[in-house]
Amino acid sequence: MTTKPTEPRRGVASSETAREINRDILLHTIHLHQPVSRADLARLTGLQPSTVSVIIGQLIEEGWVLPGTLGHLPRGRRPTFVTLNDRHVTLAVDLRPENANLAVVDINGKILGRDSIPLSAQGGSKAEIRKAIQNIARAVRPMRAAAGDRQFQGVGVSVSGRVDQKTHRLLFAPNVPWAQIDLHTELEKVLETPIEMENAANACLFSERWFGNFGQVSNMIVVSVSEGVGTGLLVDGHIVRGRDDMAGEFGHMPLEESGPPCGCGNTGCWETFASNRAGLRYYRELVQESKLASFQELLDLAKGGDVRALRSIDKMMSYLARGLSMLVAGLAPEVIIVVGDCTALWSRICPLLESRLIAKSFTSHTPRVVAAMDGDAARLRGAAALVLHKVLFGQAGFK
Ligand SMILES: [Zn+2]
Repeated sequence: MTTKPTEPRRGVASSETAREINRDILLHTIHLHQPVSRADLARLTGLQPSTVSVIIGQLIEEGWVLPGTLGHLPRGRRPTFVTLNDRHVTLAVDLRPENANLAVVDINGKILGRDSIPLSAQGGSKAEIRKAIQNIARAVRPMRAAAGDRQFQGVGVSVSGRVDQKTHRLLFAPNVPWAQIDLHTELEKVLETPIEMENAANACLFSERWFGNFGQVSNMIVVSVSEGVGTGLLVDGHIVRGRDDMAGEFGHMPLEESGPPCGCGNTGCWETFASNRAGLRYYRELVQESKLASFQELLDLAKGGDVRALRSIDKMMSYLARGLSMLVAGLAPEVIIVVGDCTALWSRICPLLESRLIAKSFTSHTPRVVAAMDGDAARLRGAAALVLHKVLFGQAGFK
């Protein structure tokens, strides 16, 4: 890990909350630069070396940080490097329309175990959703047991839909059946652990901050492309939440009102042109006799060089770029992170997205477009990051 000097993310505080803020700054800096010495932490954060020593001492006592190996410097000094204690783990749950993916994830984002629970039928009934929740609880037991004496900090849940952060209700989720029940309450009951639940694209913003390469970026868009299109928006260092935490539903901006019907009740929304479903539809338009049942099958064909599959995905991506160019014009992000199965074809779709964005740009500053660093695990790491953020970053951190 590099230890290049960086500006502290937040100013060094002098108020009564100083210790908490400084603790957040230090945890974040350790995470980015570990293993790292106390002297480097002082240099990287701008905090006094004595303050660093006191707080690191507390974090070691609380078990969040481990004093690590001795470093080697010329002239005989041997500083102790500190790291985050990877005995802290979370259970991550990613709720998809047809299944729930589960993982045990450590404090550094390493996935220690995975499982997947199918829903019995697409568009499942309340009874089926409840049965799936029981199955999740059953699957979690051996995963927890396999994690041995590691300390579980909680459960993070990412879901396609918007989650009211006060009531924890899933407010808007036209593409997933999970909203039929009080998901937060029922999951908390069967898992007997506090739960942090969040929109999948927002969860991926947390993940990029915790585990990714963009911890210092203040203006970033995550676009999650699956059955629908969702966005998570980081503007000037804050997640954009809006009324009832509903902000980010750009997937439902009307792109062409004469377009196909959308799950939200309108027609021609961006996601009806740029989602996995749209990609499949384009293929079926080209191949009338198509028996393709899933987007994964379309991807497999495209990877094998099937021209019509590639054309279908190119069309989907040109619509993705069209919506993104509107977001870029309105929000001026530095980075756009694409999350979704389509990133399996990144070497093809990245230049396509970039060239479209450049063509629509009115400044010389077009954002970087990158695939989520961890492909299909992005939403799971996002779910884990929600818990770590809650446990470690208290009220002073990234909102
Ligand atoms: Zn819609």
